[in-house]
Amino acid sequence: MDTIRIPVIAGDGTGEDIWNASREIFEEAVLKTTGGSKRIEWVPLVAGLKALDSHNVLLPQETVDAILDSTIALKGPLTTPVGGGFRSVNVYLRQRFDLYVCIRPIRWFRGLPSPLVNPEAVDMVIFRENTEDLYRGIEWKGGTAEARTVVDFLRDVMGVEVDPDSGIGIKPMSRAGTERFVRWAVGWAVKANRRVITIVHKGNIMKYTEGAFREWAYETAREFDDVSAEGVQGKIPINDRIADNMFMQVIARPADYDILLCPNLNGDYLSDACAALIGGLGVAPGANIGDDVAVFEPTHGSAPKYAGLDMVNPTSFILSGAMLFDHMGMVETGTAIRRAVEETIRAGIMTYDLARQVRDGRAVKCSEYGKAVVERVSASGV
Ligand code: NAP
Repeated sequence: MDTIRIPVIAGDGTGEDIWNASREIFEEAVLKTTGGSKRIEWVPLVAGLKALDSHNVLLPQETVDAILDSTIALKGPLTTPVGGGFRSVNVYLRQRFDLYVCIRPIRWFRGLPSPLVNPEAVDMVIFRENTEDLYRGIEWKGGTAEARTVVDFLRDVMGVEVDPDSGIGIKPMSRAGTERFVRWAVGWAVKANRRVITIVHKGNIMKYTEGAFREWAYETAREFDDVSAEGVQGKIPINDRIADNMFMQVIARPADYDILLCPNLNGDYLSDACAALIGGLGVAPGANIGDDVAVFEPTHGSAPKYAGLDMVNPTSFILSGAMLFDHMGMVETGTAIRRAVEETIRAGIMTYDLARQVRDGRAVKCSEYGKAVVERVSASGV
């Protein structure tokens, strides 16, 4: 029997709840789809608050080494304090492993609640550049010596006046960083034979960052014979939309959109907004991909107010796991998991977040939902 080693960071807040509800689903799906020839060996790892408790660092070296060794990881949400405190370990992990592509599929399926009248039109994949932009975390608190140095530099060297007590943030977006991201995402779209690619940017205002992202994205897309910005018949069209308009478009005309290429911050905002079209953050999975390592994690955070209540929706985590199996070439396992999730929700078995959006919805616990999905994986005729 082959053993697949999968590092897992359960995470903070509701992380343990969703991990406990999901673990058996993954094990059962591997057992079922490999006829028992493979089994998972979980490698439990810590990062963030738990690592601070146990190892006195936010990201222990053994966590980094285990992920580098396996080249994959499944990760729950990690809490980041707002305003002060430590910087996001989620963001640091993406930078540490150079996970420059974030993939977030947004697909409605029958049974999911939606505020739209035609939710079946929602089938998009958000690609988010994952290492640059304001997410680089280059910023200085207003009034500090560092912030004042930048303010002085702006005044004395660049001739720009900024209020002296301003907090300062830097938004770096590079040609190389944009090109490698776009090359990966457009390559994926071509291989998957998708319908249309849309570049999302705020280039009318931030001309040399977001505007440049748009230009570099078009240039890179030109490398692909199967993609056309000129509407050539039989090729995948590529167009662009200004970010504020894009937020309206995904709600008003979801059928017109398919692959969205976003800079880091736009992609973050748009991911949560699009999740609302298919029931919410509880069902929105994600993957962070680099050349050497891939980390799979839900779009949502640690939702600390629900921690330990066995209440939140583990679907986003479960579907992130399905993406991990696809990535490992175990597409049958990923498909079995997705099918079981869809059957469970279609049967009206759902956690509080979805149940509150459907007429006469009755919420089951996170663990009960997990068991219902396991049953459907077991019963499937794979
Ligand atoms: P959040 O944890 O994503 O939660 C926001 C709201 O989304 C929740 O209050 C809940 O809505 C809903 N929600 C989230 N996860 C859900 C689930 N599994 N099932 C059902 N509903 C779910 O965002 P936040 O409260 O802004 O952030 C909390 C912490 O998470 C922060 O420290 C933040 O930095 C961190 N965070 C981490 C990641 C990551 O690990 N990648 C990502 C984002 C945020 P209702 O209250 O309406 O029920």
